[in-house]
Amino acid sequence: MRRRILLVGFAVVLCDALLASAPAVTAIVGARLIDGTGALPIDDSVVIVENGRIRAAGPRGRITIPRAAAIVDASGKVLMPGLVDAHCHINQPPDDMKRYWLAQLRWGVTTMRSAGNDKPETVPMFRQTRAGVFLAPRSYTAGQGFSVSGPYPGAPTFKPTTAGDARSNVQTLKAQNVDFIKIWMTIPKFPPEVNEAIVDEGRKQGLPIIAHVTDIASLHQLADQGVTDFLHNPIDQPVTPELVAYARAKKLTFAPTLANIESRWFYYEHPDILNMPMLQDALYPRGRQMLADAGRKEQTLSAPDLAQRKARMREQTYPFIKAMSDGGVRIVTGTDCGAEASQVTPFGHATHREVQMFVEAGLSALTAIRAATLDAARVITRSEDPEYGSIRAGKVADLLLLDADPTVDIHNTIRIGRVMRAGQWVPTVRPGPPDFR
Ligand SMILES: [Zn+2]
Repeated sequence: MRRRILLVGFAVVLCDALLASAPAVTAIVGARLIDGTGALPIDDSVVIVENGRIRAAGPRGRITIPRAAAIVDASGKVLMPGLVDAHCHINQPPDDMKRYWLAQLRWGVTTMRSAGNDKPETVPMFRQTRAGVFLAPRSYTAGQGFSVSGPYPGAPTFKPTTAGDARSNVQTLKAQNVDFIKIWMTIPKFPPEVNEAIVDEGRKQGLPIIAHVTDIASLHQLADQGVTDFLHNPIDQPVTPELVAYARAKKLTFAPTLANIESRWFYYEHPDILNMPMLQDALYPRGRQMLADAGRKEQTLSAPDLAQRKARMREQTYPFIKAMSDGGVRIVTGTDCGAEASQVTPFGHATHREVQMFVEAGLSALTAIRAATLDAARVITRSEDPEYGSIRAGKVADLLLLDADPTVDIHNTIRIGRVMRAGQWVPTVRPGPPDFR
């Protein structure tokens, strides 16, 4: 017995020694570099990572590799910033949240924003992700959020009926230390004075508003009050030059959340993707069941309105994205991954799918990648120069090393070799105990 204790003690000392001798500086050498700003890629690049940050990044000839650096040979590979998803949900028991976060991180999503339905007791965990207490994407939360109808039965949202209650609910969220306030402008809506009170109290408390909007009237109602950060997009009218001009003048941003609409049929149509172990890890048990249900699959794929739903995406939503992006309005990735109301929008892959759909809508690969990295980081941080989302000197080292080039084929963003979060390589072993499946 004593010998075993001694051995364990020795192993711990050995591990400490290994950690202590881990290289302080890493040089990722030879990759094609996509920096997230929309700039043209740099071939044969060098990126130096030290203490969780990028110390230098550029063409090989211009960057000095420190002698002590651990070299990662990345020739033939592509390096891009970690993905940012501005519209997620993760209302699960705390241990499960950690597993889904890790699954999402292994898909290359290094930042996520949870847009409502988070219970007060889980709010501190979001700050822990940013402090690096456990391995997860950098995560933000809107706490419970405001929704008249749920958005699903039992959702922990606030449903104030008076302006006074609305203000007091915002103050409660402020006391819980949430990062944002979320309003669902779904039907039935709050009375205008309740919405106004939420927005005004949010401003007083220094909490930015994010809003689910699918109609023009709601968009104007909030945008005229100064709200800029929208999830989904108006679908009651086609996009017009006037709407683009209005959105640009008001500096509005949209996370159109296409992956959530499409996931209802997409994974049934792509069993190759559905069967990836990493995708199964990124779904809730009920979502896995729904997607494994042959009857449900048959019903979905033979539904008489499926062709019409696909056409609406191509003919109405894609033109909205293309017109806004071309008109200088910021479009960013948001997917509704982890939404309990839908269940079938997985963490991780959905973010890659959103990027692919931006390209299908007519954005260039580099613009779509910027939407999923630097621009999404700008929207979340309310800063034009956030400390993550791009690969430049001084920024946090949230990186995605790909085995193939997404500027050749945007589907290559899922050819993930390695993921780095704040300078730390994410372990490639599958997370969680066996019963996780
Ligand atoms: Zn949502």
